[in-house]
Amino acid sequence: SHRIMLGPLVAAIDQGTSSTRFLVFNSTTAELLSHHQVEIKQSFPKEGWVEEDPKEILQSVYECMERTCEKLTQLNIDISNIKAIGVTNQRETTLVWDKETGEPLYNAIVWLDLRTQSTVERLINKTPGRNKNHLKHKTGLPISTYFSAVKLRWLMDNVNEVHEAIVSHRAMFGTIDSWLIWCLTGGKSGGVHCTDVTNASRTMLFNIHTMDWDPELCKYFGIPMEILPRVRSSSEIYGLMKICSSRKSGALSGIPISGCLGDQSAALVGQMCFQDGQAKNTYGTGCFLLRNTGAKPVMSDHGLLTTVAYKLGRDKPACYALEGSVAIAGAVVRWLQDNLGIIGSSEELEKLAASVGTSYGCYFVPAFSGLYAPYWEPSARGIICGLTQFTNKSHLAFAALEAVCFQTREILDAMNQDSGIPLTQLQVDGGMTSNRLLMQLQADILCIPVVKPSMPETTALGAAMAAGAAEGVSVWSLSPEDLSEVTSEKFEPQINPEESEFRYARWKKAVQKSMNWET
Ligand code: ADP
Repeated sequence: SHRIMLGPLVAAIDQGTSSTRFLVFNSTTAELLSHHQVEIKQSFPKEGWVEEDPKEILQSVYECMERTCEKLTQLNIDISNIKAIGVTNQRETTLVWDKETGEPLYNAIVWLDLRTQSTVERLINKTPGRNKNHLKHKTGLPISTYFSAVKLRWLMDNVNEVHEAIVSHRAMFGTIDSWLIWCLTGGKSGGVHCTDVTNASRTMLFNIHTMDWDPELCKYFGIPMEILPRVRSSSEIYGLMKICSSRKSGALSGIPISGCLGDQSAALVGQMCFQDGQAKNTYGTGCFLLRNTGAKPVMSDHGLLTTVAYKLGRDKPACYALEGSVAIAGAVVRWLQDNLGIIGSSEELEKLAASVGTSYGCYFVPAFSGLYAPYWEPSARGIICGLTQFTNKSHLAFAALEAVCFQTREILDAMNQDSGIPLTQLQVDGGMTSNRLLMQLQADILCIPVVKPSMPETTALGAAMAAGAAEGVSVWSLSPEDLSEVTSEKFEPQINPEESEFRYARWKKAVQKSMNWET
């Protein structure tokens, strides 16, 4: 059989909260040639706890690579055309492993996890004026359960194996990017222990001005610096793939891993938001709106985070972003499915909600993990209010979708206030954007158009671009003319702004109740 001639190819590992994907793109057109996806199990061992198994995560990456390589072979595409592999990952999720055995010493503690709530409250109470923004001048972040440092602290204090490995200098800390890159470049026999600036900027141990681990922050959290990975840019060769040659994916051996970005940064790159002021919103397990602020970190007065957006090369400048993070978006869909059983799959939600087209005055604040931006209130809890005898599961489904839109509206308002320049349209991506009702609702509630690219895998594309553009690889040849070819779909606001404001005001009342229901 003949082999199709293509330009150089670039690949990405996209390790998200709910699934893992491996994707291969044509570097001259950004066309997605083949991919495979595997769901990831989440465990909830106690109320508020969320864990994932690092070995299952690694296996899912191998599985996706194997299946994708099989599909490429079926398409007569030569795997050796892949010139670079990028990694993008769920951010903040924390693990510690033993560098001699290669074994994780505990499950990965997922970003959503609330077990560190009391630690966080204690830390905040110790700061002058009980100020959750005490470390913000260095980190860009409020002290919160969300970020890695407190999760790592918990592991050190509560898992004997972690404590012992640290004492005997065998411990390695990492977010999921570090874990995967270490394993894929050889693991206990010579794996590379590194992370990139975007992932590092979510740990609370990283100084976003000096662009390095901060000894004072490490001391503050009591973290020994020797367990931290080396911080690199988002686009450079970290190491070469090592894969067992008996597998189809063995053909990936020797390919450089040369891109690494936290998932939200990767989406910003994949959506080509390279200019100051450009923004995107990604709807996955959570929902994350990032706005590029250029070479300067901008500190928010309205509850947003300041984060490193990307640094595309060792000698390239870092670019920063303002970020509004919403903990629960797609996760509420999974909750309706797994915990209430009112839908059989996430796709069914749209039909159920569309069957009524209104929440009938019902408001659902899914503050399962407290509230993130702009409130940063770990003690908030979910509420459903405005129920009547008439309310049914369809209204609840609609209210769940609306909740995602209202939360985005709160972020967008904060962002517009911080920057003084209102966004005139919103670029979107992520798993939930396949829900067209959600997209229309979002345009209605924001009163601006919502624009969705036809190629939805922007997160993976961003990581693949970073990998392809790395020094020593440089295969990416997407030109601005090609970019104009990228097709998209636009959702225009359809309800009148007064109606939209009325519903938003009600939502805000519901949010107040979710924060104060205990007192
Ligand atoms: P992550 O990167 O966080 O793993 P994804 O971008 O893969 O997330 O999106 C998956 C999330 O989107 C899941 O929480 C799922 O419930 C939700 N989702 C997927 N399809 C739909 C849909 N048609 N309607 C509503 N939610 C959806």
